Order: sequence, then C-alpha cells, then structure tokens
Amino acid sequence: MIIINNFHNTEVLVDRSKPLNRNAIRRIKQALCGHADCTCSDSLGGRGKQPAGYDDLLAHAESQLMFTRQPKPPFQLV
Ligand SMILES: [Zn+2]
Repeated sequence: MIIINNFHNTEVLVDRSKPLNRNAIRRIKQALCGHADCTCSDSLGGRGKQPAGYDDLLAHAESQLMFTRQPKPPFQLV
C-alpha cells in the first residue's frame, strides 16, 4: 500500500504483510513528514486521499501507539 502526504509531497510504500510496530510507524511517519513539531498529518504521517484499507491501518497504528504509551499503571494503590 502506498501512503501519501500531499502537504510535503511525499509517499511511502508500506508492506502490510509485515507487523506494524512502533518502530515501523515511526519510520513511515519520518518518511512522510519528518518534522517533529509538524501537525500536517495523522499518526502515520498520511495526508490527502489514501488507498482502500488505510483506515484499518491507521486504526491499528493508533492502537499500537496507545498500547506502548502506557508501559506502567499510573497509580499504585496501597
Ligand atoms: Zn508535516
């Protein structure tokens, strides 16, 4: 699948047979946007019209990021 970013005029080929882990998400976003403070795009760095199945990929990416963002519980009850 090719994801595009029509703000930076970039595109990246994503192999959907490979697991989409946090590193893969960062690589994709880096290739599409690469600006740390830029808010042009979604969690994967895509912007503009995307191919079929992109919504699923994005939802999966966001669940990965949510999962890895909270490595430990916020409170410890005594
Ligand atoms: Zn950007």
